[in-house]
Amino acid sequence: MPAQTETASHPVRPAAWRAALLAGFVVQLLLILFVTMIGLRQLGVTTDNLNRVVDVHMRKQNITKTLLSIARERTLIMLTLSKIGDPFERDELLTRFNEKGAEYAVARQALQDMPLNERERKLILRQQKLVKIAQPIQSQVIDLISSEHNLEAEKLAISRVIPMQNKVLAVLFQLDVETQRVALDASRKAYEAQKVARFWMYLLCGAALLVGVIVSAVVLRYTTRISREREHLAIHDALTGLPNRRLLLECLEQALAHARRHKTLIGVLFIDLDNFKRVNDTLGHAVGDQLICNVAKRLRATVRAEDIVARLGGDEFVVVISDVNEVTQVLQLVDKILAVMVAPYQISERELFNSCSIGIGMYPTDGLNSSDLLKNADTAMYHAKSSGKNRYHLYDAAMNAMAEERLQLDTDLHYALERNEFVFYYQPQVNLDSGRTDTVEALIRWNHPVRGLLSPAAFLDMLEDTGEIIPVGRKLLNTACAQTARWHAAGFNELSVAINVSSKEFWHKDLLAQVEAALDRSGLPPHSLQLELTEGILMGDMDAASSRILALKALGVSIAIDDFGTGYSSLAHLKRFPLDLLKIDRYFVKDIRHDSVNEALVNSILALCKGLNLDTVAEGVENRSQLDVLRKIGCPVVQGYYISRPVPAEQILSLLERDWSQFFIDTT
Ligand code: C2E
Ligand code: CA
Ligand code: CA
Repeated sequence: MPAQTETASHPVRPAAWRAALLAGFVVQLLLILFVTMIGLRQLGVTTDNLNRVVDVHMRKQNITKTLLSIARERTLIMLTLSKIGDPFERDELLTRFNEKGAEYAVARQALQDMPLNERERKLILRQQKLVKIAQPIQSQVIDLISSEHNLEAEKLAISRVIPMQNKVLAVLFQLDVETQRVALDASRKAYEAQKVARFWMYLLCGAALLVGVIVSAVVLRYTTRISREREHLAIHDALTGLPNRRLLLECLEQALAHARRHKTLIGVLFIDLDNFKRVNDTLGHAVGDQLICNVAKRLRATVRAEDIVARLGGDEFVVVISDVNEVTQVLQLVDKILAVMVAPYQISERELFNSCSIGIGMYPTDGLNSSDLLKNADTAMYHAKSSGKNRYHLYDAAMNAMAEERLQLDTDLHYALERNEFVFYYQPQVNLDSGRTDTVEALIRWNHPVRGLLSPAAFLDMLEDTGEIIPVGRKLLNTACAQTARWHAAGFNELSVAINVSSKEFWHKDLLAQVEAALDRSGLPPHSLQLELTEGILMGDMDAASSRILALKALGVSIAIDDFGTGYSSLAHLKRFPLDLLKIDRYFVKDIRHDSVNEALVNSILALCKGLNLDTVAEGVENRSQLDVLRKIGCPVVQGYYISRPVPAEQILSLLERDWSQFFIDTT
């Protein structure tokens, strides 16, 4: 079974996710780096600015203040000088006055060397001019003092020097105010720059944080999704999304625990599709997958929500019906499932038909634990299958012995071909008009060394399942052709042989070559070989089937449709195939005497066959009355136990020699 996932229609692509995550991380890392760089740079800039502000403006202010205090001190010295009589003391003060003057010049020069704005520069210039005006007057005062004209000196100092000095002080005061203003301005600017830096830091940090949160959320979502998906896949079937064996066992154990407590019953249904292999082989796995999905949907829709529907793999499903009080409740549901499953499936513009076989194991009668219940339901399913498919079977203990027997048979079957244990029995088809055997149908038998002669019902399925039907069929084809050629040689050269062809054989690539080779080898004329196909084979890919039939017919062999009426085809469908003969299934023949509907049906099949120019054979004629009705309604050829059971080749000659006309007329 190819595992094509439905759930995988929205798959997580780890590579794409990983790339996206990596990109997210890289972006985040870059952002953080960027933020740190910008932040550090901005902080550096603002710190520098602040330092400069502190340094320059503090120094400027200090100098201005120094200038102010020197100017004040010099004015004071000037006033004091005129009042001091002691020439030593006066000299000392004078020296101090001059020293202060020099200090003043140095301080001013220092101020001028600093970064100044226009106003500061103007104020310094003004101050310089005032000092220049004041200097000669100061010198005059000093001269007057030196020549002991103290009174005059004092007068001059008060009238000229002090006002001039006050002017200088006023300018210096303005300068002080200005430097203070500039300092404030600069610190405000630095503060603003810091604010901008802080804003960017916050913004970028926020962005990095956001990206981080997003990336983390995505990582979290991704990992939880992956782990959830892994968890889901581990316990669910990828194709249908139904629980797989593991989850089924878990749920079944829970249901069993519940049933034990509440003393209720549980029904375990083992469901297997009847013709799934054929669909897969003829229409391909994609169609097979779709069929499985459709079946899963129908099962799910048929049972209650609390019931379990699981797929074990291939075409095997298990349904667990819990909280049951009577077996009939389970059987009602099983009937419903059987009915639902046979409705046509619409797949890729095709109508497909499929049925299923169901085995039922009941808790507690058929098992107390999940593995026993499943095993026994499986065994019961197998019985449903071997007793004709499209039905259910309740488990009973005797089945286990049969299952073991079957296992043994399966092993033996591997050696049957090389040990030459397969033989053909032949069953005549008698023409009601001529009373002669036109055709014999070759029917496989297995001469089992221990169990004796086995009918195909006991082993044909196994042969088909293992594919061994191909070599076995090839061998039988050769045997039947050679045998019939010998009967021709014995004088029955009008005799045809009919061989059953299974779906696997029909679609096998070597079919045409094998048929041709068998005819060549035996020398049997192609028109003496008839291949019997069932309707099911044709209903898959109708166009392919039709062209294959044409190719076979080109070899000269004729084609019969077997078991007509049991499948789902209609005569309208059959018109599409170039057939030669139609075999009415024994189901219609069985009650033909008592069931007027069946009689009418056979009647209309005969009429339609005439219209389509098809020969007709009625199968399964077991008694006189069936034969009479068939004769009455004009069926040309009959086959059945009433004429003869299938017999070994050695016994067929006496049947071929027989003229049946008398037999028919005698007893009418
Ligand atoms: P079928 O092709 O429908 O063959 C007719 C079956 O009906 C044979 O069963 C035959 O023994 C049985 N039969 C004949 N007359 C009567 C009758 O009057 N009443 C009843 N109840 N049954 C009658 P058999 O031989 O057991 O074969 C069963 C099926 O196995 C065949 O059904 C055919 O589909 C398949 N089969 C037999 N031989 C071969 C073979 O060589 N190759 C393949 N692929 N399938 C085969
Ligand atoms: Ca047949
Ligand atoms: Ca048949």
